[in-house]
Amino acid sequence: MRIIVAGAGMGGLVAAWKLGELGHTVDVYEKETSIENMRYDWHDDLTPDIFEKLGLTPPKENFAKPDWTFVAPFEKSILFLPIGDSKRDMSIERRPLNALLYEKAKAVANIHFGKIVEKPILEGKKVVGCVVDGQQELCDLLIDSLGAFSALRTMLPKDLGIETQPKDNEIFYAFRGYFNRIENAPVEEPYTHRVYMKHLGKQGISWCALDHNPKLVDVLVGHVGSLSDENFNEAITDLRNKNPWLGDKIARGGFVCKIPVRRPLSKMVADGYVAIGDSAFMTIPMLGSGMVPAMLSALILADVVSCAKDMSAKSLWKYQIRVFKEFGAQHCGIEVLKNGILDFSDDLIAWLFGSGIVSAEDMAGASIGKLIAISPSDIPAKLKIGWKKMPWLLKLNSLVSNAWAKVHIAEKIPTEYDEDAISKWQMKIDK
Ligand SMILES: Cc1cc2nc3c(=O)[nH]c(=O)nc-3n(C[C@H](O)[C@H](O)[C@H](O)COP(=O)(O)OP(=O)(O)OC[C@H]3O[C@@H](n4cnc5c(N)ncnc54)[C@H](O)[C@@H]3O)c2cc1C
Repeated sequence: MRIIVAGAGMGGLVAAWKLGELGHTVDVYEKETSIENMRYDWHDDLTPDIFEKLGLTPPKENFAKPDWTFVAPFEKSILFLPIGDSKRDMSIERRPLNALLYEKAKAVANIHFGKIVEKPILEGKKVVGCVVDGQQELCDLLIDSLGAFSALRTMLPKDLGIETQPKDNEIFYAFRGYFNRIENAPVEEPYTHRVYMKHLGKQGISWCALDHNPKLVDVLVGHVGSLSDENFNEAITDLRNKNPWLGDKIARGGFVCKIPVRRPLSKMVADGYVAIGDSAFMTIPMLGSGMVPAMLSALILADVVSCAKDMSAKSLWKYQIRVFKEFGAQHCGIEVLKNGILDFSDDLIAWLFGSGIVSAEDMAGASIGKLIAISPSDIPAKLKIGWKKMPWLLKLNSLVSNAWAKVHIAEKIPTEYDEDAISKWQMKIDK
């Protein structure tokens, strides 16, 4: 079988590696001209158990993340999150990780650099290939790993039932850069990685963190929908006032990227076509982390393809079911939670963090894709803390209930490929 992987992202490389190992002819088309040019020149956080699933030893360029502190708008309260050593996320340099995945994929697949995937080729409702640099490339399966603004997904015909464009408020515009660190400027003890929620009252987050490289400071300023120069400058000035060790020279990164912060696509397969990773909006909606979901979806896909009798939407639907069961349904709930929290008033967020109603574990869970759970046994304790602010408590309770309702809908994904049943389910998910 000939498989085309469009885009050599983390997801695309894992898919090429695993499907190549199954004996398929795999061609990867990537617009960047070489492996050295690919990926952001920085490090990112991921949950280390992905390496066990991949059967890989992580590259040595990694380190354990320090403890986090969540700061409510205008510093009205803070929530300290001590993480046990066994639960720490790993921060990993992207380029060495990318090089490792590339070596694996290259051994079993043909990787073509400097090639632009332009559009899909269809015969009726079946995807039969794609146009690459003006040339038609036909295949049995086209894997869309081109990222959130995929040239393939955005050009699919509407009658395939696959959402083509995200909405503005589903995209996080994030500046990421590593600035110089001002020597001898005082640092609070014990030092924690501070995340400013709804920083300066805006819909988004900022962080300003001492890097493991003692000469650098890792800065992120992200807003939902857009990030104007004015808002960015205000945020940086505020971060500099609060963190006097933040210098003004950019050493790494230093640009704005777009990250999807929404539920996954409610339909990610068609005859001959499947979307993985950011192309299917798989990032965790709270913080926009998508490396693990991209690689995990590639592993699930390879497993499903290994047992499938053809590459029809019906056969590939099993992939979507597994994605939803493993993490997609939870992401649907986290989207509801994130949107709700962004709409909460600054005072309400400050109270939630400061009173202990939202615990450090809740925030830690949501940032790695696990939804807050208020179990019946938690209610007396929450009521004891929150009875004086009953309307706020009820508002939180209603938000968490709505989020879980969404998870339960998402988990009821049709178990057979029935187009009517799927479109009814999609309407509920996308509502
Ligand atoms: C500032 C920032 C910080 C982030 N921090 C984290 C983090 O801490 N942890 C985390 O898990 N995730 C993080 N993410 C998200 C993470 O980068 C993505 O979720 C992940 O890389 C998705 O992998 P992917 O394989 O789906 O797509 P991508 O990595 O986006 O790969 C898509 C590939 O397709 C190629 N391509 C695109 N268009 C074409 C075309 N027309 N023709 C040919 N090739 C094309 C691109 O060059 C690219 O190589 C962050 C993202 C940003 C922007």
